[in-house]
Amino acid sequence: MIDWKSLTPSELTEALTALGEPAYRGKQVFTWLHKGVESFEEMGNLPKPLREKLHRAGALSPPEIARKQVSRLDGTVKYLWKLADGSCVESVLMAYRHGNTVCISSQVGCRMGCAFCASTIAGKVRDLTAGEMLDQVLFTWKDSGKTISNIVLMGIGEPMDNLDAVLRFLELVNHPDGINIGMRHISLSTCGVIPGIRRLAELAPQLTLSVSLHAPDSETRGTLMPVNRAYDVEGLFEACHSYFQKTGRRISFEYALIDGVNDYDWQADLIVKRLRGMPGHVNLIPLNDVRESPYKPSRRMAPFQKRLESQGVAATVRRSLGGDIDASCGQLRRRAMEEKGEIPND
Ligand code: SAH
Repeated sequence: MIDWKSLTPSELTEALTALGEPAYRGKQVFTWLHKGVESFEEMGNLPKPLREKLHRAGALSPPEIARKQVSRLDGTVKYLWKLADGSCVESVLMAYRHGNTVCISSQVGCRMGCAFCASTIAGKVRDLTAGEMLDQVLFTWKDSGKTISNIVLMGIGEPMDNLDAVLRFLELVNHPDGINIGMRHISLSTCGVIPGIRRLAELAPQLTLSVSLHAPDSETRGTLMPVNRAYDVEGLFEACHSYFQKTGRRISFEYALIDGVNDYDWQADLIVKRLRGMPGHVNLIPLNDVRESPYKPSRRMAPFQKRLESQGVAATVRRSLGGDIDASCGQLRRRAMEEKGEIPND
């Protein structure tokens, strides 16, 4: 079966030529696919026998909306999508002043094991295909009727753990015959997989990179994020510095402040020291309470921010959207799993 949605324009043309079709059909089909059609039937300017042939070679399987939550506070919309194999992933649509942004998932579940994160509780089920990532953007757009101008890869999953498909997805959304979203309008967040950071510097230098830091010292970071055992904080900052030298792009560091764990003054000072020589931006996130986790939100948000800023490091407190819905990482999928008895809910 051909996975039409994941094909680049040149691959699509090749596949169509192999089916005995003229090359110009490639662009036609690509454009249709990227409009968010649900079947080949909708491709009105293709002859019916061709539509049937394409369907037989690989039927389209658009995601179904399993749940949808709309925030009454700020209009943030959260989608739980049911994919063709029954797996579920989440996307979130957020309205910012600079345009509508959709946050998408890159895997079903996650195997990174961060101690505070809901997405990783039941491990990783599988990687998403480029087409499944694209569908989250297209069908969020279609359902909401809101033009999407920015994409963030910050939903469920570790993008660097599925980097080939992610790079393919970037090529698709970036293409002028598709939705044509510029690399500068796309952000990718990683828990700190160093080879991935190096690869992105080579292959997608215009992208905005976010690194989930959460602690500037390996001792603390190691207890929060198992990835730190493979790629420790010293190596991570080395990779970040060389990323900046190669791309000239400022990296954003995500930092969820946890009471009595990573909210000490000395840790703010260590962030300042590690960032010396490159412009960084620290995004302080109020920790979302995950029931399974022992961690509590810090009350030191303001002093921590001030300590960074007074030493010349830009730090902002992330505006929290969708506070009245399950709009943070993995929470909606987790709740649905609880209700179906796939994970315990006590
Ligand atoms: N795997 C990628 C992207 C997905 S998570 C990564 O780790 O960056 C998106 C962000 O939400 C990450 O910075 C993650 O560390 C953070 N996050 C996860 N659980 C959280 C929680 N309970 N409270 C606050 N932030 C959380």
